[in-house]
Amino acid sequence: MTDLLLSTDAIETYLDATRDARLESYKAFLRIPSVSGIPAHAGDCRAAAEWLADAMRTAGLEHAEVSETSGHPVVYADWLHAEGAPTVIVYSHYDVQPVDPLDLWTSPPFEPVVVGNRMLARGAADDKGQVHLHVMAAAAVLATRGAFPVNLKYVFEGEEESSSVHLDGWLEANRDRLAADVAIISDSGFFDGNLPAITIGLRGMMYSQIDVVGTDVDLHSGQFGGAVQNPVNALAQIIAVLKGPDGRIRVPGFYDDVQTLTDADRADLAALPFDEDVYRTELGLPALVGEAGFTTLERRGARPTLDVNGIWGGFQGEGAKTIIPAHAHAKVSCRLVSAQDPARIFESFKAYVADVAPPGVTVTVQDLGGGFPSLTPTDHPATQAAARALEATFGRPPLYIREGGSIPVTASFETILGLPVVLLGFTPPDDHAHAPNESMDMDNYETGIRTVIRTWDELVAANAEPVRNW
Ligand SMILES: [Zn+2]
Repeated sequence: MTDLLLSTDAIETYLDATRDARLESYKAFLRIPSVSGIPAHAGDCRAAAEWLADAMRTAGLEHAEVSETSGHPVVYADWLHAEGAPTVIVYSHYDVQPVDPLDLWTSPPFEPVVVGNRMLARGAADDKGQVHLHVMAAAAVLATRGAFPVNLKYVFEGEEESSSVHLDGWLEANRDRLAADVAIISDSGFFDGNLPAITIGLRGMMYSQIDVVGTDVDLHSGQFGGAVQNPVNALAQIIAVLKGPDGRIRVPGFYDDVQTLTDADRADLAALPFDEDVYRTELGLPALVGEAGFTTLERRGARPTLDVNGIWGGFQGEGAKTIIPAHAHAKVSCRLVSAQDPARIFESFKAYVADVAPPGVTVTVQDLGGGFPSLTPTDHPATQAAARALEATFGRPPLYIREGGSIPVTASFETILGLPVVLLGFTPPDDHAHAPNESMDMDNYETGIRTVIRTWDELVAANAEPVRNW
């Protein structure tokens, strides 16, 4: 313990002395527009991967590598000299969401600026900020102590924002070198009020596109209107029956693998400090809506959803143009919970769309990727180590939350590598991830570095019990 305290002082001195350089490095990383979902940004994704591998080498990590997949590369590095100590995989992702609508940003998304106490840029929170704080934590430990108390393997993905299409294959191909005791995933955030939190539940995802096609080209609505099906009208009819007025999803079998919330689950969620009125007011909405019979926290973390993410077709210019559009399209996604299987949900969804589609058009449904939901035990020694580290650095014990978002890789680490997963994330809840003006709270970022360092120490303390029992 004495050693730990002495070296913590050295780490603080180091972190103070390197604060400006750290900020500049964070900004440099954010300037690379690594939007994984847009093919034109493939070169930028690679540039971000190369930048990151260099930063990890500079931090003193070993075997830093830009590792190929059939898509954007994975960045790997490790440090494996803590004999007999646990081995931890650290996962975050260096890719980011697209930036549109660009006109809603108060400053250009890839020109990071600190406004107040916030770093404002696409990826500042999700998830480059968390990637960066892990690398800076590693640099601080190696510069001051020369060694970690645990073995570390870093896996930084480049396709999380586009359904992690190639990650499972990469994990399978690298199974041997990824042998570990636990995975720490930093791609989640704090609870409302910016309270420290560990996410124990994550929803899965089914993502699809509905394509409704009529004729080869748009038709004159005077000559043909009334005689042929209108693809946009047809798409609207399909979408209108995906959910009922009670908020229930009408796809047959959709709820078959959804576990009923226990009284204890409901009590845990009800105990979180959460005010529906404040939540609604902050969103600027006249009312909250959702599945009948469930609270807002239950709806947003523990129940499945179906949402149209985008819809297009027909004439969208100024003025009038009298056509029957040739085709119409919608992106539709479902957040999944419990044992819902994305592939099975997609098949049920596709069959239901075919069933409800009106005649006179060709309707197809594409699978755009998905991921399994997950739930982590709170009493796992690694969860408890992360909880102690959060309490020591942020000054209060973490809340355990169910997050509405999806991190498909969580289930991949569980099923492919057989690892327990701890979701230790630091972003503020009002970070505007995926939206204009995304930002990271710089206190969360700076304290997060200390939490990560402390977590490695706490894991060794937890390791007093044999690792194999994990
Ligand atoms: Zn993310």
